[in-house]
Amino acid sequence: EAEAGTGRVRPLDEETVASIAAGEVVTRPEDVVVELVENALDAGASRIEVTVVGDGTPLLRVRDDGRGMSEADAARAVDRHTTSKLGDADDLRTVSTLGFRGEALPSIAAAGTLELVTNDGGARGTRVLVDGEKRVEPAGRARGTTVEVRDLFAEMPARRRSLASSRAEFARVSDAVSRYALARPDVAFSLVHEAAEADESGGGASDGRRGREVFCTSGSGDYADAVLGVYDRDVAGRSTTFESERTVEDDGESATVRVEGLLAHPSVTRARRDHVYTAVNGRAFPSEALRRAVVAGYGDLLPDGRAPVAVVSVSLPAHWCDHNVHPAKREVRLRAHRAVERAVRESVRDALSTADLRRSEEVAM
Ligand code: ADP
Ligand code: MG
Repeated sequence: EAEAGTGRVRPLDEETVASIAAGEVVTRPEDVVVELVENALDAGASRIEVTVVGDGTPLLRVRDDGRGMSEADAARAVDRHTTSKLGDADDLRTVSTLGFRGEALPSIAAAGTLELVTNDGGARGTRVLVDGEKRVEPAGRARGTTVEVRDLFAEMPARRRSLASSRAEFARVSDAVSRYALARPDVAFSLVHEAAEADESGGGASDGRRGREVFCTSGSGDYADAVLGVYDRDVAGRSTTFESERTVEDDGESATVRVEGLLAHPSVTRARRDHVYTAVNGRAFPSEALRRAVVAGYGDLLPDGRAPVAVVSVSLPAHWCDHNVHPAKREVRLRAHRAVERAVRESVRDALSTADLRRSEEVAM
């Protein structure tokens, strides 16, 4: 039996397929980027480069230096319900990878043209092109995987019509990549945006010459470095990193909740809570309940009606959280969620009370 997240890509059995939250995985460019970034993280990447043209529909590219795939696995990975991450329905309760349904790549391939170039460390790599039919051929590439999606929703007019402005769609993509860059300071992220061909005259859209680097992070593992990449020196300089562990109880069972991240000084405020970044077991998604807990942890330190800038990452045993409640896994059902929220609130409060906030203001740049 292969360990979760490693080994061969294989089809799931029918029982497992029936028990996973089915639904539309890909409704906008953001969804594609999230799925591809999660695959890169599951593959153990230490560097992830995201390139977006326009609103993401002309071209999206995610390049990683993870463990890659063999030729056989690469060919199978684009089929429906094939995954290397889940053995059977029982594994669903203990899943520790971000992916597990084997639906992302086939859903993306159904919504656009997908090209995957991968190498698992062998002498040569593999290219899989899915454009109506599937073509598999050898390709040169160092270890890792690049997935390129072109002409997203070109043949799905309803999906295309439901997209917001190009600017708004790109903002969503950018926010999604930021979320992961902040949740995983140990991984170096970069986001490059290129103008779509229609926005400018002449030249290829994807040759990279007109690319603008929106942000990049160092991958040092330090939350302050990640914040420096995504935000700026002002926010990173006026902040404190923290980590704490608390025990929560439910039904006679206890579990350790680990809370860590970065809290900006209460003088760095925003009008809305969008700058409170939350993650649960490495899955970065905005949780209103956890955002509220973070804001409550700041308590009186915040001016009325203002929200902080913070990155808060929560880890707890896999069977204490169910990620299988939402088709795109953007929600989590936490066992003993009130106790977990209290742990977050108290961790934030304690971290702020021990941090020397005046001094952190003086060293602000
Ligand atoms: P899931 O992530 O739910 O398993 P996907 O359709 O996203 O399903 O991917 C299918 C399989 O393809 C994964 O289980 C994994 O084995 C392989 N795979 C996808 N992306 C990558 C990547 N960037 N690096 C290595 N393997 C990958
Ligand atoms: Mg996946």
